[in-house]
Amino acid sequence: MSKYVGVIVDVATQQTNRPYTYRVPEELTTVVAPGMRVEVPFGRRQVQGFVVETTDQAPEGVKLRSLTRLVDVNPVLGEEQLQLADWLVGQTFAFKISCLQAMLPAAMRAQYQKTVVLVAPEKVPADVRPLFGEKGEIAFDDDRLTPAVMRTIAELQRSGAVKIVYHVTERGRKKTVPQVVPCKTAAEYRELATHIRTNAVRQRELLDRLAQLDAPVLQADFLRGTHLTVAHLRTAEKQGWLTRKQVEQYRDPFNAPVKKTQAPPLMPDQEKAVTAITAAEKAKTPTPFLLEGVTGSGKTEVYLQTIAAALKYQRTALMLVPEIALTPQMVNRVRGRFGHQVAVLHSGLSVGEKYDEWRRIARGEAQVVVGARSAVFAPLKNIGIIIIDEEHEGSYKQDSMPRYHARDVALWRARYHQCPVVLGSATPALESRARAQKGVYQWLRLPHRINGQDLPRVQLVDMRRVMGKTQVADFSPQLVTALRERLNRNEQVVLMLNRRGYAAFAMCRECGFVVQCPNCDISLTFHRDRQRMQCHYCGHEQPVPQKCPQCGSRYIGFYGTGTQKVAEELHQLVPAARVLRMDVDTTRRKGAHERILEQFGNHDADVLLGTQMIAKGLDFPNVTLVGVLNADTGLSLPDFRASERTFQLLTQVSGRAGRADKAGEVIIQTFNPDHYAIQLAGKQDYEGFFVREMQVRHQNDYPPYFYTIQLTASGPKEAQVLRVLAKVRGELTRLLSPQARLLGPTPQMVTRVNNRYYYQLIIKYKQEPQLQAYLQKLALRTQRLSRQQIQLTIDRDPQGF
Ligand code: ADP
Ligand code: ZN
Ligand code: ZN
Repeated sequence: MSKYVGVIVDVATQQTNRPYTYRVPEELTTVVAPGMRVEVPFGRRQVQGFVVETTDQAPEGVKLRSLTRLVDVNPVLGEEQLQLADWLVGQTFAFKISCLQAMLPAAMRAQYQKTVVLVAPEKVPADVRPLFGEKGEIAFDDDRLTPAVMRTIAELQRSGAVKIVYHVTERGRKKTVPQVVPCKTAAEYRELATHIRTNAVRQRELLDRLAQLDAPVLQADFLRGTHLTVAHLRTAEKQGWLTRKQVEQYRDPFNAPVKKTQAPPLMPDQEKAVTAITAAEKAKTPTPFLLEGVTGSGKTEVYLQTIAAALKYQRTALMLVPEIALTPQMVNRVRGRFGHQVAVLHSGLSVGEKYDEWRRIARGEAQVVVGARSAVFAPLKNIGIIIIDEEHEGSYKQDSMPRYHARDVALWRARYHQCPVVLGSATPALESRARAQKGVYQWLRLPHRINGQDLPRVQLVDMRRVMGKTQVADFSPQLVTALRERLNRNEQVVLMLNRRGYAAFAMCRECGFVVQCPNCDISLTFHRDRQRMQCHYCGHEQPVPQKCPQCGSRYIGFYGTGTQKVAEELHQLVPAARVLRMDVDTTRRKGAHERILEQFGNHDADVLLGTQMIAKGLDFPNVTLVGVLNADTGLSLPDFRASERTFQLLTQVSGRAGRADKAGEVIIQTFNPDHYAIQLAGKQDYEGFFVREMQVRHQNDYPPYFYTIQLTASGPKEAQVLRVLAKVRGELTRLLSPQARLLGPTPQMVTRVNNRYYYQLIIKYKQEPQLQAYLQKLALRTQRLSRQQIQLTIDRDPQGF
């Protein structure tokens, strides 16, 4: 019996992490439980919230209101999720409600619809009354509620003639499909058939079909291969021959069936890794493993066999991948091994599809989950292993509230479930590699490629030397020669254009004027396909200027390279080559990634030209040349991870060459051939890079030597933003030990976005016992600041500054 509940309410402007107590109506005291969603009165409206605790003790001296209704009959969050939310609050400084919501699929998050309801019609002016219609209610965002009408409504509300009501609606709708249920025996159907006219062919066919059924079937399956239509079924239903019923159907996010695969015998290094991991699975120890293996060394096979072990021990498995849309091959390999036991969760699914997969997992119908970042919250029970592929990827960090890193959540869940975690990568994050060195993670290595092939040969081309000597701007003679050679041999080529920190902009060749966004401190990007200039920060769009706004010159040129321009250059160089483009423009539509990759896999094209998105996880045996057109655009970013990101990207894309029995070659074009990140990527020397980059981080007090926290403030008035951060800096100076470092307030790389000013303060620290409590209090202060239009965010371990 629970007479009272503590509820975390969903009210954007009055967030606290403290539950509000409500009385439970008599008839619900045996039903209500922690983890259920409820609707409760809050102020003058109805809001949704989560029950986090139940009790029989009334708090003293307060008058309690009753909860209005239950949104769920079963808890949607279990004990584990409620504990995890508490931890997330401390880890990310987010409000508890957003931590709870992060664990549910979007479809289950509440949406509020505001309406105006007629209370006393006689007090309402005759010209306004008809708006309320027969139901006496109108949506708050209805276009007919003009400002003038709104003023009247505001007065009416004050006098009590109308009231504002919040309706809580749910977006997730179960998809249902009709089913045909036979209601007679086969003999009865055959008997019926003897009584109908001989020329009633369709009725005969229908009875025939019904006689063959021994259980209900989906209507679509019933009709398939027959001459019958839904109209025939309706008639039959009226005659009492059958009934039709709506049954729930899961939307199937998989488009194509996959071939079943068998586990191959393991190579010695793989064997060692699998043995160590399965031992931890068996012993139920939450050991974190770092699985460091060059591309093509068989990491995925290690994942598959350790997942199989978890299933053998009657436990479940969770596998995270950076972005599923970019790695369809990985999903297919998991499905190929585990078939229908696999559920997939990622942002490419529709809201409904995600909801369906989530429920399949919650009900225990899927035991293996593959998904992107947010899948780390998948409602699996009894987890036996958690795998994070490409663990160094920045996409594992969420960049809005709650700002969690999936790796940290995975480690937390592993302790809860007492199961191992496998972090896999060819280029581990420096933090992870350093932890492996210290023995915090158990270090497993796969140093050789499965096929015995050497890693591809990498050639660095100094673009400063070939400038002006090329046939087309973006291709060095070396790359052109190699390209022609492969095309002659009927082999395939991957070309990557590094778009990080890069965009095409318009500049006047007479006075140097660059076309800027009116709202932000950034130049506009030229979009060739739409012939428009666009701001990538605020979305502002304008036509391409015909002449320079500053000096009137007509010589406005475009600088920077886009895939479209490169595709044109390619056509000039090798007119016969069939080129596929993969970038944000060609992959906007759902399923476009998969289609492009499938075409390339079928050798319907010779060259795959794309941005970073082609670097990940592709395994095409016929690719023997990888070209990187511009290796260094990311290096100049003011970001302590710039070198690491560049090294990772180049290593990853190089791994796309020579996957099968043909040797691979990589050509990297660069303006910084002497930079250590480029040099060492050219040698595919992760160890060398790790040692060198650790020195750089040590010298500058960056992770993994120091922890970092980024405080960002933004607002419409620059001085006010600076004042807030200066105050915080003052408080921190008094609080922190001399070992900690404070940087800032400094303007962010793009200081003004959408007419708001962005400044940051960086805290670098090793051990500061008081910092956590301070930041937690600061997080609660953000609400008061937001009333002055100042936004303050706290980001632990930011991916970059
Ligand atoms: P990684 O994930 O490290 O890039 P993969 O797991 O994709 O490597 O392995 C590279 C290739 O080798 C794949 O085609 C895979 O099917 C194959 N492979 C992996 N392990 C074995 C094995 N033990 N025996 C035979 N082939 C294997
Ligand atoms: Zn802008
Ligand atoms: Zn000009």
